[in-house]
Amino acid sequence: MRGEEMVHFGHPRHVLVKVDLPDFYTCAGCKEEGAGIRYVCQECDYQLHEFCASAPPVLKSHPFHYQHQLLFFTKPAKGGIMKSKCDVCGRSPKGYTFRCKACSFQMHPGCAMLSPSLSSSSLHHHPLQLLSSAANNTGGDHSGGFLCGECKRGKRVGRVYRCTVCDYHLHAVCAKDAAVNGLRANGHKGRDRSPAVLGTAARVASQVVIDFLGGIMEGLGEGVGEAILDGVTRGGGGGGRGGGNGGVTRAIPRVRGG
Ligand SMILES: [Zn+2]
Ligand SMILES: [Zn+2]
Ligand SMILES: [Zn+2]
Ligand SMILES: [Zn+2]
Ligand SMILES: [Zn+2]
Ligand SMILES: [Zn+2]
Repeated sequence: MRGEEMVHFGHPRHVLVKVDLPDFYTCAGCKEEGAGIRYVCQECDYQLHEFCASAPPVLKSHPFHYQHQLLFFTKPAKGGIMKSKCDVCGRSPKGYTFRCKACSFQMHPGCAMLSPSLSSSSLHHHPLQLLSSAANNTGGDHSGGFLCGECKRGKRVGRVYRCTVCDYHLHAVCAKDAAVNGLRANGHKGRDRSPAVLGTAARVASQVVIDFLGGIMEGLGEGVGEAILDGVTRGGGGGGRGGGNGGVTRAIPRVRGG
C-alpha cells in the first residue's frame, strides 16, 4: 500500500513515501534494523522507520523517564560510541536518539515505542511488566536464571520484561524486534541472522578496529566518523558480497575526498 508522503529533514532532496515491504533494512535515522512499514526514497537507498520519520523534537513525561524532558538528537552523544548505552535495550545508539539534558538517560526511538507494561497478544498471552533496571543488574546470581521467550537466551544487555502470572521473560531488545520494528512480523530474526560460528571472533576483531578508529576520529567531524564506523560494523558482520576488504578501506578514501 502506497500513499503517505513526506519531506524529511534527514533527506530533504527527495520525497519519502510510506510503504509496507517485507524485506530487511537498516534505518538511516537510528541505524537499527527494521522490516515492514517504513518511509523510503524512491530515487536512492534511504529508508526510515515510521517512528523515526515522525519522531517528535521533545518527549515529555515518557513513562521510561517521566521526571525530565527528552530531546531528540540525530547523532549519538560525542565520544559516547564506546561508553554510552541505551537505557532500555542496552545497545549503543549510532544515530537518532532521545537524550535527557539533565541526566545521562538516553534511548533509541524504537525503544521509546515500548512502555513499562506490554499487553499485546502477539507477544504473550498475559501482560508483561518491565523489571527495574536494578533487578536486571543484580550481580551474577540471577544471570541465566531465566530464558527469554523470543531469543531463548538468558542474560543480555538491556532491560527485561516479565510476566508475573507464568514467569515468562522477554528482553527489551527482543520486544523491539517482536513488536516495534516489524522484524518478527516479517519473518526476520534480528541480530541472530549472522552465522553463530563467526560470533565471538568477528566481534572481537571489529572491536579492535573500532578502538583504533576511535583515535583517528578525534580529528574528524562527527558525521565522517560515523560513516567509518558504519562501514566497520557492516564489514565485520560478514555482509555477503565477495568484496574481501570490508567497509574500512572503502570508507577512508571518502574522508579524504570530502
Ligand atoms: Zn529508525
Ligand atoms: Zn533520495
Ligand atoms: Zn534502545
Ligand atoms: Zn533525566
Ligand atoms: Zn531475548
Ligand atoms: Zn504469562
